[in-house]
Amino acid sequence: MIVILLGPPGVGKGTQGVLLCEQLGLHHLSTGDLLRAARREGTPLGQEAQKFMDAGQLVPDEVILGMVGEKLTEMGRDAGVVFDGFPRTVPQAEALGALLSGLDRRVDRVIVLTADDRVLVQRVSGRRSCPECGTVYNVHFNPPSEAGKCDKDGAALTHRADDSEETVATRLEVYRRQTEPLVSFYERSDAEVRHVDGDQAVDKVQGLMQEALGQR
Ligand code: AMP
Repeated sequence: MIVILLGPPGVGKGTQGVLLCEQLGLHHLSTGDLLRAARREGTPLGQEAQKFMDAGQLVPDEVILGMVGEKLTEMGRDAGVVFDGFPRTVPQAEALGALLSGLDRRVDRVIVLTADDRVLVQRVSGRRSCPECGTVYNVHFNPPSEAGKCDKDGAALTHRADDSEETVATRLEVYRRQTEPLVSFYERSDAEVRHVDGDQAVDKVQGLMQEALGQR
């Protein structure tokens, strides 16, 4: 199964994507996580991506597509995948379609997570993530058991540089302009598109997402 999680920054794609993959045995492919790993490792790709990410702008499509193509090949042609933060533009969605059809596969389901901008800004400012395993917490809504430490591996949690209030405003505007058109793009495709209200408890949203995938 190939699933795409669509939704604005802070809506819970990371938290819900990780849970969904743990529960259903799917691979989580987050382009944001891949880019942050490339930045930490200081690769040329990471260095190129940095200025776009810090400004809250999208990294050029060619960079993203190369990275996703490589990951998909590594995962193998039968892997179930949950895409988180990809595609983010119509050209990325078209390229993904072409890549998948070359593997005789297609996007099966698209889950669109929604929440008000006010909630999103609050969520993003409270967000902390584990640099080791990618688990996402929120100091207001979903704190770790011990402040500042990951429940899974004890690593020190970090606050993303692009989670500042000013950058979030840009990221929301970029989402509306460049990514939201993908909702109608997929509604016009063969994929089944489901909308889930992301402004609810983590387990509730997870339950609704599994239902949307026909897994409950
Ligand atoms: P995320 O963790 O998904 O919020 O992504 C963090 C940042 O990485 C974004 O604000 C973009 O700068 C960049 N990024 C992640 N995924 C993509 C993508 N599919 N296309 C372009 N830029 C991306």
